[in-house]
Amino acid sequence: MVEFDVERIRRDFPVLATSVNNKPLVYLDSGASAQMPQSVIDRINHYHQYEHANIHRGVYQLSEQATAAYEAVRTTVARFLNVADTSEIIFTKGTTHAINLVAHAYGRKFVHAGDEIIVSHMEHHSNIVPWQQLCDEVGATLKVIPISDIGELDLEVYERLLSDKTKLVAVTHVSNVLGTVNPIKDMVALAHAREIPVLVDGAQGAPHMKVDVQDLGCDFYIFSGHKMCGPTGIGILYGKRHWLERMNPYEGGGDMILSVTFEKTTYADIPAKFEAGTPPIVSALGLGEAIDYLEAIGLDSIERYEKVLTKYATEALSDIKDITFYGTAPNKAAVISFNIKGVHAHDIGTLLNDDGVAVRTGHHCAQPVMQRYKVPATTRASFYLYNTIDDVDKLVASIRNAQKIFS
Ligand code: PMP
Repeated sequence: MVEFDVERIRRDFPVLATSVNNKPLVYLDSGASAQMPQSVIDRINHYHQYEHANIHRGVYQLSEQATAAYEAVRTTVARFLNVADTSEIIFTKGTTHAINLVAHAYGRKFVHAGDEIIVSHMEHHSNIVPWQQLCDEVGATLKVIPISDIGELDLEVYERLLSDKTKLVAVTHVSNVLGTVNPIKDMVALAHAREIPVLVDGAQGAPHMKVDVQDLGCDFYIFSGHKMCGPTGIGILYGKRHWLERMNPYEGGGDMILSVTFEKTTYADIPAKFEAGTPPIVSALGLGEAIDYLEAIGLDSIERYEKVLTKYATEALSDIKDITFYGTAPNKAAVISFNIKGVHAHDIGTLLNDDGVAVRTGHHCAQPVMQRYKVPATTRASFYLYNTIDDVDKLVASIRNAQKIFS
């Protein structure tokens, strides 16, 4: 094992000391939502107890302090993504909200009849449906990068799909079902050679590895707070100033305007232009604390540790009779999807829960991936910095128990 004090980390997460069905909780669903450490919970409580006020409006001290705390998180996020211009960081409600923002604000301005948007076959529904809706509305076409049997994007087809008609590439950094880490830097370079912007869905990327958007070169990078030890209700849209300034506003309301008369409204500069109404202030503060927590441990260390854990889990699960894996690319994050012959994924999930093991079962909001591998559902174990070898051993033992019941 690499040096990584997972037992100390576990003590930071109160929920990991709890039980389910009189068994210690084995939490293997961080891909859906990660748990929160005490420091994040304390930050949220402290805000509610002593710091709450609306931001950007008040001239009184409490409001000014809340505004400063909220804006400080913008700076934290900019540093986290290696963004030089903090105005390029937009707070959203989550990944889904951020993608919809771009689909409206960029899409309705720059995508027209006959144009094309490229997505991949491994996208989460939230990086498919908004583009499909846009295409239907304006008369554009969605093009899809296929995936191989092991779960890698076909880059030759991708290159052929790029054309003068392409107005955007929208692709996931890491697949939430297959775990594949996509070669974003290369994909961006290919798109930029034709001056096509690239949006990256980083919901499964940012929590697990160091992300440097300047190095990736992408035009938009998006993620959710709740998958990286932060609270729900907060997400981030990084966008290049070049695009954000040219895009239409998304939602209209307070805070996003310069002046309003019944004849005409003028809009605020970025980032305010895209943050209409009272934002999720407390969730932003929680996200800031979560980023501080992850950075103190080190994203590189977390990524290294997860690789060791994933390798161990893949080997241990491989010994199970009649198991099929979905997603076996060499460059893979801490997500393992599988099925056990003769047992429906939902039955596996229910029986694992009896042993205190929390996994996700179903289509994982990625039905096209299920269609690609011709399965209705999979069981997915997803790991994070607080999971252990012992968790993996309990997962394996619990699957074996489930198998006995169905044999
Ligand atoms: N994209 C990916 C790759 C995801 O895994 C998820 C969450 N499962 C989302 C988008 C949507 O994130 P949210 O529900 O936080 O908006």
